[in-house]
Amino acid sequence: MPKIQGVYAREILDSRGLPTIECTLWLDTGGIVLTSVPAGTSVGKHEARELRDGDPNRMMGKGVLKAIENINTIIAPQIIGKDPTQQSEIDQFLIQLDGTSDKSKLGANAILGVSQAVCKAGALTDNVALYYYIFNKYQLTQELFLPTNIFTVVNGGEHGADNLDLQEFQIIPASHISFPDSLSMAVTLFQKLEEVLILKGAIHSVGLVGGFTPNLYSNSDVFEILVETIKSSPYTLAQDLFFGVDAAASEFFEGGKYGLRDRAQPYTSGELIEYYQKLRSLYNVFYLEDPFAENDTGSWQSITASLGETTKIVGDSLLVTSQTKVQEAIDKKYCNTLLVKPNQVGTITETIQVISLARKAGWSIVLSHRSGETNDDFVADFAVGVGAEYTKFGPPNRGERTAKYNRLSQIYQELGLSRQQQS
Ligand code: PEP
Ligand code: MG
Repeated sequence: MPKIQGVYAREILDSRGLPTIECTLWLDTGGIVLTSVPAGTSVGKHEARELRDGDPNRMMGKGVLKAIENINTIIAPQIIGKDPTQQSEIDQFLIQLDGTSDKSKLGANAILGVSQAVCKAGALTDNVALYYYIFNKYQLTQELFLPTNIFTVVNGGEHGADNLDLQEFQIIPASHISFPDSLSMAVTLFQKLEEVLILKGAIHSVGLVGGFTPNLYSNSDVFEILVETIKSSPYTLAQDLFFGVDAAASEFFEGGKYGLRDRAQPYTSGELIEYYQKLRSLYNVFYLEDPFAENDTGSWQSITASLGETTKIVGDSLLVTSQTKVQEAIDKKYCNTLLVKPNQVGTITETIQVISLARKAGWSIVLSHRSGETNDDFVADFAVGVGAEYTKFGPPNRGERTAKYNRLSQIYQELGLSRQQQS
């Protein structure tokens, strides 16, 4: 069996221009893998902690040299000689080596860098594609298929230019549409949306995940613009595609109310449910991520009870890819869909366990990028390997986002070819 011969990490820049970790792992067979770690901007309170240097004289305190030192001098010497296909054993070792409940000692960013590298090295050892390795190892899905892609085409909130409160406005192709056709739809609509924004004199520069961040009067105006865009295209709303929203509502929750620029007075939780109901009926918004603040759990229960039959109620900051949080949400019916971000929990094994738990409860799974991304396409293989119904990788724009779509295109082609060979 091949063994890990070395691990080495370095500091690189993410898509926001902030430092993050890149990790190289090599085997005694000569095989090498490379991976890097994403980072969030609208971070949930209960996420595993990434370790930042905090040195105000270097990169605004955001450097990750301590986390890198932890990989190079503490973790690396202790995992040399291990079998890279023993993911759960290595992850368990990393969790114990850290010893804290939030991975703050070694840093969740350091731990995930190594955990992801081990996963890639496992696939290399078995001489199979990464998505196939994950599929075969964890058996979370009976067949390989391409997920439906949720394309965030407009950015607001913490990802925007302070023009809009809701963080993401998404277009979601109908699930029967093939991957190439859905990509074609997203490319067409994204380009047309830019034309419409220019015609309206609205700003068409882009936000953190590559979607436009226009200067409109209200959040609802975005849907009017999207409807107009779709009318000038070959597509039909509610037939070929639907809309979605990531409200990231913790970011505009203050004093028990929600401040949206759609009206002067802030919304009570009950009024915000009505607002979402209106979006549902007027604009076919059938995906609602973080519609309420992470501690406003009563409102999560109410919206799942009232809209959950027809709408994906998606927990991101509410669940932070945590087994305990997901179990509580299943028991108390807070939501019906899990957003997965491996760096919220910090190891591949724990991420797999959370997905498995949500699956057993009949929830849908969305595999997500972070706002601070790299060109690593790990998450695309991971999404296919675990059989996620959805991915959220941003719009078809900017290299770190298109890297994931381009990887899905390769996987789509590979799956098609292998099916042809089998028939
Ligand atoms: C999100 O909230 O879903 C997201 C991708 O943002 P961030 O990475 O900033 O948490
Ligand atoms: Mg979110």
